[in-house]
Order: sequence, then structure tokens, then C-alpha cells
Amino acid sequence: MLEGINKVGDLEWEVPIGYVPNMRVPGRFFLSPSLGETLEEGAIRQLANVATLPGIVKHSLAMPDIHWGYGFPIGGVAAFDMTEGVISPGGVGFDINCGVRLITTPLTEADLSGKKRELIESLFAAVPTGVGAKSTLRVSNKELSDIMVDGARWAVERGLGTSADLARCEEEGAMPGAQPETVSAKARQRGVPQIGTLGAGNHFLEVQVAREIVNPEVAKAFGISEGQVCFMVHCGSRGLGHQVATDHIRVLEGALSKYGIQLPDRQLACAPIDSPEGRAYYGAMVCAANYAWANRQVIMHEARKVFSQLFGIDYDEMRLIYDVAHNVAKFERHDVDGASMEVCVHRKGATRAFGPGAAGIPREYAAIGQPVIIPGSMGTSSYLLRGTSTAMEKTFGSTCHGAGRVLSRSKAKKEVRGRELREQLAGEGIVVRAHSDAALAEEAPEVYKPSGEVVRVVHEAGLSDIVVRLEPLGVIKG
Ligand code: 5GP
Ligand code: MN
Ligand code: MN
Repeated sequence: MLEGINKVGDLEWEVPIGYVPNMRVPGRFFLSPSLGETLEEGAIRQLANVATLPGIVKHSLAMPDIHWGYGFPIGGVAAFDMTEGVISPGGVGFDINCGVRLITTPLTEADLSGKKRELIESLFAAVPTGVGAKSTLRVSNKELSDIMVDGARWAVERGLGTSADLARCEEEGAMPGAQPETVSAKARQRGVPQIGTLGAGNHFLEVQVAREIVNPEVAKAFGISEGQVCFMVHCGSRGLGHQVATDHIRVLEGALSKYGIQLPDRQLACAPIDSPEGRAYYGAMVCAANYAWANRQVIMHEARKVFSQLFGIDYDEMRLIYDVAHNVAKFERHDVDGASMEVCVHRKGATRAFGPGAAGIPREYAAIGQPVIIPGSMGTSSYLLRGTSTAMEKTFGSTCHGAGRVLSRSKAKKEVRGRELREQLAGEGIVVRAHSDAALAEEAPEVYKPSGEVVRVVHEAGLSDIVVRLEPLGVIKG
């Protein structure tokens, strides 16, 4: 492990105050020795930098999928006192409310045999993908305001889903506090044509099979069984979220001196939570988050239609297990040093993992803990887990969000040949469809840490419990 880092548990490490100047709290991260081999010092420095921000509470945290990001590390979690603390777009990320949802079908792998390629081609035709993907829906600027306020509910009200879907989304698919007037004309312009589009790169729609049931009792409660075909949607707020982040970072940078905030890195630009600039960013971030929930809802709807048509199954037989956000800031109550307090929790490449009995999880899952969805890669396992009380105690109810990147996009392009990769995956029975083979190279399984090891760490550290291991059967990429 890196010099100056202390081991405080089997899989838990502390970055002591003083690792960088002006830290207010220590850093904590979760990692195994084998994951430690690819740990970037820059990411740990970012974790320490976050600990210098005003009002940070308890620890600056990182999950085992930690890697270098804009200002805050990806895989990072930080909570701030509501009066002394700050809100920072760097702690949320540019893809506001990037997230994942998992849906079951009544099909088994055998039902797909001979039809897998047709299924993947049909999904690719139904869901717009790629950098500039354009929506098949026509929405007006006025409707965009409704989307930014109502989130997934907007889609359900248009017939693109059922009300049962909403109950199975974090925040029921729409956070309160949206302020459409804080979203710029440029952000709106980018948002209007992109609703219901997957985007590019890391975003995907993947058909999977529940290969291994690790916790049968909880799997049953989540409504998933061995051999069942499922699909997973990973995407966020597209150009709208990116523009919101860009616009507000500029404003917050300009307000730093007004609030006397000194930063070790300008990418940590922030403002007091209860300041005009902080409130405006929050209101715009909520708009983008709600747009992302609507986006995933529309994509799920299109995928359900494809499955219905191809396999003659009912729309209602495809049940949403849950939808999680992994790039967002939220006001939540947590116990800190024995007292309950409201804090602003930033999760950037981190998933909420609320345990049994926590407020804010669907009633049907209340006694079990919330479902946690962790994608792996197009060639390795993804996981369904559940939140725990240990996560509530140690990480403000948070866990990892994926395997986490180890190879940069530019390095991946040099080291991986897209076409060979596609053929190799086909040999393993995984059908991959993207606009180009070159785009695939950046997303090869080897650009990510081994998902099994990352998930093992959060499981053994108690931050979430493994329920089901899923394997990819086919994937569409942007
Ligand atoms: P991010 O939100 O950081 O872009 O990605 C989250 C995680 O998704 C990554 O850390 C990686 O583990 C996972 N991932 C990326 N591409 C794919 C894919 O095609 N299929 C699956 N199952 N997971 C992926
Ligand atoms: Mn994203
Ligand atoms: Mn994501």
C-alpha cells in the first residue's frame, strides 16, 4: 500500500490528517491487497483534498472502485454539515444521476437460444445510442420543465411504464427541489433531443442471466431466481447534466473568494449549501437528476416492448427490481458520533446502500435493505446486492458503483483491438453491438478492475451483501 496510509481493518485504510495540508478529517477507503496494486496515488490525494473542504463530517471516503476523477475521486463519498458545509459539482460528477436499473423477465437462457442476435439487434434499433443520439420522442421546451420536475413520473404519465415502476426507483424517480429556472438555455437545448437515449462509452443496455443465487432468501424477496434472464440499463442525464455541471462550476469558481474558501485544487469548486450559488447548483442538479430518471424509464420501456414482441411475453411480466443513482448529492439524516444530523451526502461513482429499516427505501424492501446494483463489464459478472446497517455506520449508507476503471481510454485504444474483442466475446456467447469496434476497445473488460474482487471487498467489509451474480449474454453500447 502507499506510504503514509494506515491499515485500520482487514480491508479498511486510513489517510491520516496531514497527508495533504489543511485536512479537517481523516480519509478512509476500502481495498484489498490485490486491488492495492493498481491504486493511483493521485486518487488518494484527491480523497485527502476533499477532506480539506469546509464542513466535511467524519471521514472523506472511497470505495474499492476508486480511481482518479474531476476534483473528487470516482468511488468517493463525502458528507457535509448543512450549516457549515459546502456543495460541490465535482463531488457529483458531470453525468448527474448516472445510474443503473435492473429488470427481470420471465425468460430463461434456453428461451433465447437462436434469437439472441435478433434480440440484441432489435434493442439496438429501438434505443438510440452513440454520442449525438437523437430521441424518437418529441418534447417541447415546456415539457422539458415537466421532465426536470417530475422525472420518471413524467414518462409513466405518458404511458411509458407503470406506477409500480416508480415505487422501485431511488427517490421514486424524482427528487424534490428542482429549480428549472437555474438550468441554462444551452443545457435545455442539449436536453430536448436526447430524452430516451443511451449515450456513448460506458453506458449500456445489457441482457444478463442470473447465474448464481448467493442469498436465496433475499433474492426471493427481490423477485429474482436462478437462470432468469434480466436486463440492465446504465445511463445518466446526457448533455443536459453535463451542461448543468459546466455552467455551475463556472459560477462556483467565481464565488470562492466571496465565501473565503481556499482550495488545494480548483476542481473542488464549491459554495456553502445555504448560499445563493449553492442553492442554485442544487436546484439545477435535481433537474438533471430527474431528467436521468425519466431517461432510464423511457429506455426500459423501449426494451420491454422489444422483449414483448420477440418472445410474446406481457409487458407486466418484466419487473423493475430497482433503480439506483450513483452520481448525486442528497440531503439525508445520518448518525454521526451518536447524534442524528442532517448532512449533504455527495456520492460520485458510489451507490446508496441503505440497510434494513432505513427511511427512503421501498416498503416492500424495508425489512431487507435496499437493492444495490453493481455492473462489472461486458465480459464479466455484474451483481445485485443489498444495503446494510454497517454501511449506515461507516459510509453514510454507501457502497461501490462498479468495477472501476484501471486503464485510461487512450491507453485502452492502443492496447485493445475492438474487432478481436467482439469476436472473442462472441466466442464466449456474448453478443456485442455498438456503432464501431473502436468504441468497444475503450470498454473492454480489461480496462476495468475485476468486478468479483471489488464486490468481494464491499461484501466482506460489510458495506453491502451479495445477493445474485449475473453474467452478460448480450450488450448494446453507444
Ligand atoms: P461509470 O458510471 O463509472 O462510467 O461506470 C460504472 C461501471 O460500469 C464501471 O465501473 C464498470 O464496472 C461498469 N461497466 C462499464 N461498461 C459495462 C458493460 O458494458 N457492461 C457491464 N455489465 N458493466 C459495465
Ligand atoms: Mn454516466
Ligand atoms: Mn455511471
